[in-house]
Amino acid sequence: MLISIIVPCYNEQEVIQITHNRLVSVLEGITPQYELIYVDDGSQDETANQLRQLQQKEQQVKVVLLSRNFGHQMAVTAGLDHVSGDAIVLIDADLQDPPEVIKEMVNRWYEGYDVAYGVRTDRQGETPFKLWSAKAFYRIMNRLSDVSIPLDTGDFRLMDRRVVEALKMMPERDRFLRGMVSWVGFRQVAVPYQRSPRLAGVSKYPLFKMIRFAADGILSFSLVPLRVAIWAGLFTVALSIIGIIYALFVRLFTMSWVPGWTISFIAILFIGGIQLIFLGVIGEYIGRIYREDKRRPLYLVREKLGFGSHQQNGCVDRVKQVTYAGENGNEMI
Ligand code: UDP
Ligand code: MG
Repeated sequence: MLISIIVPCYNEQEVIQITHNRLVSVLEGITPQYELIYVDDGSQDETANQLRQLQQKEQQVKVVLLSRNFGHQMAVTAGLDHVSGDAIVLIDADLQDPPEVIKEMVNRWYEGYDVAYGVRTDRQGETPFKLWSAKAFYRIMNRLSDVSIPLDTGDFRLMDRRVVEALKMMPERDRFLRGMVSWVGFRQVAVPYQRSPRLAGVSKYPLFKMIRFAADGILSFSLVPLRVAIWAGLFTVALSIIGIIYALFVRLFTMSWVPGWTISFIAILFIGGIQLIFLGVIGEYIGRIYREDKRRPLYLVREKLGFGSHQQNGCVDRVKQVTYAGENGNEMI
């Protein structure tokens, strides 16, 4: 049984060596059969060179260097496309997710679960705003989304090979991995843990990126924002009917019907506002359709280290992969 660990790294030069040592000591205690796949997501600092050195020293280490920064979810996707393990663990490079929890996840997997996902019972070293916004996000997400995504769950998790193969068949560009893992199903179990503060360096998820990420989650797993338009439309029409009756009443049965501009002014503003909001919502979905339709590769690989010579650089052609799924799940171009 081979265990693969995927670590996405973006400007993590301060922590990478320490993280590696912690991971190795935990893994040695579980099984000698493991591989560590570091994905460098276009770091501008020394991360790539450090990974190169690690790879030269230890043969369990494999490195995928992406051609530029593609974002955390894509880096993880690149890692998933390069694993060969029977169980695959996703973990951040900054030791916020304690590697010791992997042991418990592996035990769950031995018990027969296909996914063991980490649930944060406590998050240390985060700002109150991040805590609050993350909490709100997971709850709103669950209300809106078509699949139920476990609360307070990040990407720290163990997945069986079968789950990873299922994920590889999902070609979408707006990747919200934790939602996708919920969508595929199989037997899943929660493993509670305490999230520690970042070991060093800064968070690569500033407020703006967090909002984008939340929007990705909601828009790719829910049609509710589109449906809200219908309800808001009906509500507005109902209000307008009352307004029309009132206007007619004033016009027909009273003498004070001239200064009616207030209500028409309000009505125009209100309807204009509602329409703009929902044009925006529709635009968001159409933008996504447009992006998917271009079928660009999700990421590009600059270099691979430690994978043997038969694999060329490039990226997995997901369109092809879906067409030929089962025949050759890992077709390279
Ligand atoms: N990361 C990445 N690409 C990015 C941003 C982040 O690969 O564009 C990695 C980062 O190196 C870390 C993980 O994703 O291993 C989580 O990022 P971070 O700790 O900055 O996010 P936070 O924990 O603050 O949400
Ligand atoms: Mg972090």
